[in-house]
Amino acid sequence: MSFNFDTTYSKLNPKFFSYITLKNIENPQFLLLNNKLLNELNINEPEEELIQILSGNKLLEKPIAQRYAGHQFGYLNNLGDGRAALLGEHVINNKRVDIQLKGSGITPYSRGGDGLLTLNSALREYLYSIALTNLNIKSSQSLAVVQTNNQVIREEIEQGAILTRVMDSHIRVGTFEFVSYSSSKEELKEFTNYVIKRHFNELENKKDKYLQFFEKVMNEQIDMIINWIRVGFVHGVMNTDNMSITGETFDYGPCAFMNSYNLNTKFSRVDTQGRYSFGNQKNILLWNLERFAETLIPIIDEEPKEAIKLLEKSLSKFEDLYEEKFNSMMKAKLGIKEEINCEKIIKKFQNWMQKNNPDYTNTFIELEHPGTFDDEEFQTNTFQNLRQELKEIGLDSTIMKKVNPHIIPRNYLVEEAIDEYVNKQDLTKFNQLLEVLENPYEINKKHKNYQQPPKKEYDLKYTTHCNT
Ligand code: AMP
Ligand code: MG
Repeated sequence: MSFNFDTTYSKLNPKFFSYITLKNIENPQFLLLNNKLLNELNINEPEEELIQILSGNKLLEKPIAQRYAGHQFGYLNNLGDGRAALLGEHVINNKRVDIQLKGSGITPYSRGGDGLLTLNSALREYLYSIALTNLNIKSSQSLAVVQTNNQVIREEIEQGAILTRVMDSHIRVGTFEFVSYSSSKEELKEFTNYVIKRHFNELENKKDKYLQFFEKVMNEQIDMIINWIRVGFVHGVMNTDNMSITGETFDYGPCAFMNSYNLNTKFSRVDTQGRYSFGNQKNILLWNLERFAETLIPIIDEEPKEAIKLLEKSLSKFEDLYEEKFNSMMKAKLGIKEEINCEKIIKKFQNWMQKNNPDYTNTFIELEHPGTFDDEEFQTNTFQNLRQELKEIGLDSTIMKKVNPHIIPRNYLVEEAIDEYVNKQDLTKFNQLLEVLENPYEINKKHKNYQQPPKKEYDLKYTTHCNT
């Protein structure tokens, strides 16, 4: 089979998107092709044909750019796909996914941007989306990276690329912000019905379906953040336009994994206040959900006051729900059975990590397999005592090994792998890293080097940027 497009988004209200033309790419080349995903999607186009489609040269239908808004670092802006094109919605085995090109040229929403993506960013997004997927975190998928000879002007002139991104959908909190603020109540209702039908169809016939929809989204997004916390992921730019309604992690711009545990960890150069730091992701999620709730006011109840009351009631469930999921995740990381009440020791353990800044990933491996690492933090009496205390109630390997990765994409390894391609056209390191990231929960002595954290100074100086 091949592409099986049945695009529903372009049948919606025309003000929610624009038809676009794509930049023609001379001599496009596949740099990466995700064969596993191609198989899952049942796409077996010959490669000469596929490269034309995934570079945007051959169109199967007229591509669109989706319109949305978004609170960026707290401020509402009108946005939209400024450098992305939805090629179509591919349907396979009753599942529908968006197939989108990123970096395929300007659109009506480019706002002065060039519509392009650097090869460096395409490689990063490809790698992180695979890493998170293998860590069992719902994520956008990357189907291919096509190398182009577009020259992309950033701090320096860089080579361009087009990434093919696959997601259940690209509908985000920011989409609701745009729809709600630009439309009538009926139009908002129609759009929300579309989203419910597409993603939460079990709610279609429910009397209070819009409120339940809000709570479902809240639930999905809490799961996403809890998973980030579980593996030490810092997304870096949790603007409302980057928060998917289905709870898929996406837009791997300035993201990075934390090495040394510290709630204040942030890498993004533009995030001067630490708004999107590791430990603030929960607070920002709630803030974003409040913005999302506001968009639904007109359809929750005829009376805005009543609608606000109902949404506030839903939002008031956030704290307990988050805590419950957080504790359950931490219990699993510490190998403690779900039914055991152990919030005190979780807090104590977190405090120890915050004070001593051990390598987050390796801490849990060391708990399960003492003696694996010789970091000084693991030799202290405090750690040994904590381990003993945990041993009495937990440290059950069968629970721990499913949630504590042995391998994460260490920032310095990601940079080395990408640099080696960008500077020397050598993809060996990148492919090796991808291979190691295939089975992050597996113990493999051969991968010992990939478990090595950098020196603490490295992370303190390491910055990522949005200018991608
Ligand atoms: P992001 O920070 O990648 O989530 O992007 C925020 C907004 O800026 C989105 O509307 C993007 O489409 C847009 N954007 C980012 N980079 C570019 C670019 N190079 N050209 C045009 N639009 C861009
Ligand atoms: Mg974005």
